[in-house]
Amino acid sequence: MNSLCRNISLTRSLHTGRVLLKETPRNLKGKKHSSQLWLERQLRDPYVEKAKQEKYRCRSAFKLLEINERFKILNPGLTVVDCGAAPGSWTQVATNLTNANGKKEGPVGRVYAVDKLPFYPVEGATVLGNMDFTNIKTQETLNKLLQGDKVDVVLSDMAPNASGIREIDHDNIMLLAYAALRFALQISKAQSTFVVKIWDGGKMQQFEQNLLKFYSSVRAIRPDATRNESTETFLLARRFKGLKTS
Ligand code: SAM
Repeated sequence: MNSLCRNISLTRSLHTGRVLLKETPRNLKGKKHSSQLWLERQLRDPYVEKAKQEKYRCRSAFKLLEINERFKILNPGLTVVDCGAAPGSWTQVATNLTNANGKKEGPVGRVYAVDKLPFYPVEGATVLGNMDFTNIKTQETLNKLLQGDKVDVVLSDMAPNASGIREIDHDNIMLLAYAALRFALQISKAQSTFVVKIWDGGKMQQFEQNLLKFYSSVRAIRPDATRNESTETFLLARRFKGLKTS
């Protein structure tokens, strides 16, 4: 799981006169400098606090919420595959917005959430933990679960463990993005949506061009919740043209 999503529990000191909650990390003695920086950044981050308040498993939820707010990609009754789903905040958002958890009146959607790490169940979703999405067996499992039904939205927030070497990390996330795209092309309905996370780099432009072969529109988005220092961009591809079968 991405380190940003690690669940931390720390003693806090709250200064209520400010918009943001200012928290002071304690017990950092003996921790590596990088861990100290990570903790300090978590404690300054308003999305971390907001995620706790709104019971999301991690701050990433706000990225998908913003994408949905702007582009209305998730609606009650839709079928969604969520790739790289652990710890599950996008899955929480998707199950709420598609009504896969059946909490509202009206159409009930379906959400399939996959990650190579194990993660806790999300109400209303089919959670496939411990399953590497790039493994053909994982994709066969998803196909079996779908029983021939096509999907409205494929999400990929998959990210490899970062090495810190920008080119290598870019190459690795592109492999995941292409795996998600190949699968999306096989299982998606015409007019469906594909959202994929990329870390910027030399292969992004070609990827966008490839997306445009299959989707009518492609747009790059950097949600507010994306950290300033992150190179991540989400590509939103809409209106899948469908595959010619003959
Ligand atoms: N969207 C998630 C959420 O909101 O909770 C956060 C996803 S996190 C940024 C990226 C995830 O991609 C990690 O949990 C990681 O295990 C997963 N991942 C990376 N490579 C994968 C692969 N080959 N198959 C499945 N999941 C993968």
